[in-house]
Amino acid sequence: MNEFRVCRVCGYEKGFHVYLREQEKGHKIGLICPSCGQSFDVGWIVADLDESAEKGTKFE
Ligand SMILES: [Zn+2]
Repeated sequence: MNEFRVCRVCGYEKGFHVYLREQEKGHKIGLICPSCGQSFDVGWIVADLDESAEKGTKFE
């Protein structure tokens, strides 16, 4: 995949939100269109995700 930025369902062009879902072997990371809500599985799986989700930098 060269680039995946535009939602294939509604055409929103500014990228995606992400979601994390626990699986047997770690967590799946997927994309959600912020405009229409369609989710996309791009095959990302993280084995050792830190579940504390501590706050980091707040971007303005
Ligand atoms: Zn969309």
